[in-house]
Amino acid sequence: MPLTGMRVRRPTGGGWVAATYLPSILKGMWITFRHLFRPKVTMQYPEETWQMPDNYRGLPALVRDDEGRVKCVACFLCEYVCPPKAIEIEAQEIDTGVEKGPRTFDINMLRCIMCGYCEEVCPEQAIFLTREYRTVGLNRAEMIFHKDKLLEMGGVRPDPIKKWRRLSGQARDTMGTGASPAHRPADAAAGGGAR
Ligand code: SF4
Ligand code: SF4
Repeated sequence: MPLTGMRVRRPTGGGWVAATYLPSILKGMWITFRHLFRPKVTMQYPEETWQMPDNYRGLPALVRDDEGRVKCVACFLCEYVCPPKAIEIEAQEIDTGVEKGPRTFDINMLRCIMCGYCEEVCPEQAIFLTREYRTVGLNRAEMIFHKDKLLEMGGVRPDPIKKWRRLSGQARDTMGTGASPAHRPADAAAGGGAR
């Protein structure tokens, strides 16, 4: 069967003036000129940054409770569930004697996809996705966020349950010490001895 088709009409006209491209150039310059008097939409990053909405889910971070304790108990659930395996934790005993805590807690932000699984799975509400979205660094090593940096990013989240206080009290009774855990600055300064 012979191929049939329709002849395409190509625009003609303009003559030698169009052949110089001058009309197109002037038209483009007119569009640019009009934008000089319109509101600017370009953001001067990094001097200006986006204000993200409250429900934005950015980089994960660790939090302390309102007594200054690191809430993470190094259960490894987040490390286990993290799809790109961005989390690496080393656990250690802490001086309450009833829990453990992270000796090191690293998140490789080059791998993190901000999926929120770590926040979902954490039994201690110790890790949250923040509104921080800037992941910048001069090399790969800078993109691995260590425990101190993660705690600084996360800040403090009040913990109304106060599980730590009860457990610390039991441990104190067991160990026969008299000081209240709430009044042991070494605990608070060390994030529940988790450093
Ligand atoms: S947000 Fe997702 S990818 Fe990032 S550390 Fe948590 S579980 Fe891993
Ligand atoms: S952040 Fe939460 S889930 Fe991850 S190790 Fe600590 S307590 Fe477990």
